[in-house]
Order: sequence, then structure tokens, then C-alpha cells
Amino acid sequence: MTLPDDTHVPALGQGTWRMGEDARQRKQEIAALRAGVDLGMTLIDTAEMYGDGATETLLGEALPGLRDQVFLVSKVYPQNAGRGRIERACEASLQRLKTDHLDLYLLHWRGEVPLAETVEGIEALIQAGKIRRWGVSNLDHGDMDQLFRAGGEACATNQILYNVAERGAEFDLLPQLRQRRIPTMAYSPVGQGQLPDSPALAAVAKRHGVTPFQVALAWVLRDPLVIAIPKAGDVAHITNNRRALDLVLTPEDLTAIDVDFPPPTRKTRLAML
Ligand code: NAP
Repeated sequence: MTLPDDTHVPALGQGTWRMGEDARQRKQEIAALRAGVDLGMTLIDTAEMYGDGATETLLGEALPGLRDQVFLVSKVYPQNAGRGRIERACEASLQRLKTDHLDLYLLHWRGEVPLAETVEGIEALIQAGKIRRWGVSNLDHGDMDQLFRAGGEACATNQILYNVAERGAEFDLLPQLRQRRIPTMAYSPVGQGQLPDSPALAAVAKRHGVTPFQVALAWVLRDPLVIAIPKAGDVAHITNNRRALDLVLTPEDLTAIDVDFPPPTRKTRLAML
């Protein structure tokens, strides 16, 4: 997968929401993250929001020796995305992550701060060497239009809720991003571990000898401009997810999945968690 600035990133990365919150899970989560990096899932997504900084702190512990291999993504709270505050928020994330830069910094969702002010602040972080590039999350089609008009043409991605059961973005947002060659980052790609019951997912999984989770992930990854960031705090899940990258769904598989999860036929508001 190539970003608008020609940087190569893996199409399959790792999410981290709810990691680092339970001391009993810590060792297992660190092992899963490191196994994922070893398997090439080197894009890691986090946020200052997760565990009120605890997830970034966990990553700071998990990544020594691996940082150079990792494409590290974090997100700023909307209320911290204004002049003066964004520098402090970014610095705090860097300290927790024990790194001197982020590879990508995202506005977590749109809040009260004008987009032009966020763009100005986030571009200044690039100039200061604190981040390499920036993007957004949970912005719908109209928000993206406003972002571009507010000077945000350099936006490197939009991270959105996208999975078999949440296809609304296919109506207008994904085409809008595709037109500008901006990759979409799909969060909750396996439905937060709660995939709906689906005869199609079950049948396709059986046909390929894989699990419905792997089918759901391969389905998200069928689009060459979509990056998936499943969260897995378990090495077995990480290994399964990695295998989904090699699973190529056939046109018949995709048609079957469309029956259970029809593509959108009208505009709906972008779903978010
Ligand atoms: P997700 O990745 O769809 O699902 C995670 C859940 O699925 C975990 O409970 C995990 O269990 C389970 N799982 C993962 N792989 C599995 C497999 N192969 N087999 C069985 N179960 C599996 O949901 P998510 O965590 O909401 O989304 C992914 C990432 O996107 C987040 O972690 C976060 O980084 C990001 N995100 C961003 C936003 C935003 O607003 N920008 C919102 C939500 C999420 P184990 O942990 O036990 O392995």
C-alpha cells in the first residue's frame, strides 16, 4: 500500500484499543504486538484516548528494538486539536510511546476546533519533526470537503469504521478518497470480535478452509486502497489475521457476501464507535 507521499505501508496493521488496561493481560498483549511486527504487521494504531494514555505507555514498553520497523500512528482528541494544545498533546504521546516522532498523527474525530486551525497546528508538528504526516478519523464526505477547503490537501488517510456489516462509506466517502488516492484505514475490521451470524461468511470460510474472521478481514483488504487494523491481544489471533492477507476472495465469494451484507444504495451518515 502506498500513501500519497509514496511511502510504503503494510495493508494489514494492528489496532490497540483496550490494550494496556489490565495488568494481567500485559505480557500476552506485548507478545502479540511483537509477534505481529515479526509477521510484517508493522503499522500500529493507537491514540492518546486509549486507556487515558495507558495504551501508548504499553507500546512504549513493547516496541524497544522494533521502533525502526514500525509505522506508528496515534490520534489527538478533538479538544486537544487546537492552537497550543496540539503541541502538548503530541509531546505527551511521544513521551509515553518513548519515541521522538510519529509516522502518522490523526485527528480522532471532528470537534469544535475549526479544521483550518487543526491543519495549521498539525502542519507545524511536521515542521518541528515531531510527526512525519497527518490524517483524520471519522470524517464523513462533507467534512472531507471542508477539510480540503481548509487547506488540508495533505491529509494522508481517513480512519473509519468499515467492515462487512458497516458498508455505508462505500456510497460516497470511499469513492471521494479513492479519487484523491487517499487510503482509507478500516477500524473494527472484524466487528470488534462480534461478527454477525452469516451463512455467506460461514460458507466462504468453509470453502477456503479458514475462519469467518479471516474472510471478514480478507473482504476489507480486497480493496487495494484500504488498510485494516484489527486488534488482537492474542498470538493465535495475530497469526490467523496475518493469514487473511494471503486469502484472495473470488468474485463468487464476494457475490455471496453481498447477499448477507448488501452494499449501500443511498447516503447514510458515517457510522462511528
Ligand atoms: P476489531 O479489530 O474489529 O476487533 C477486535 C476484537 O476481535 C478483539 O476482541 C479481538 O480479540 C478479536 N479478534 C481479533 N482477531 C481475531 C481473530 N482472528 N479471531 C477471533 N477474534 C479476533 O475492533 P477494534 O479493536 O474496535 O478495531 C481495531 C482498531 O481500530 C482498534 O484497536 C483501534 O486501534 C482502532 N479504532 C479506531 C477508532 C476510531 O475512532 N478511529 C474506533 C475504534 C477502533 P483478542 O484481543 O482477544 O485477540
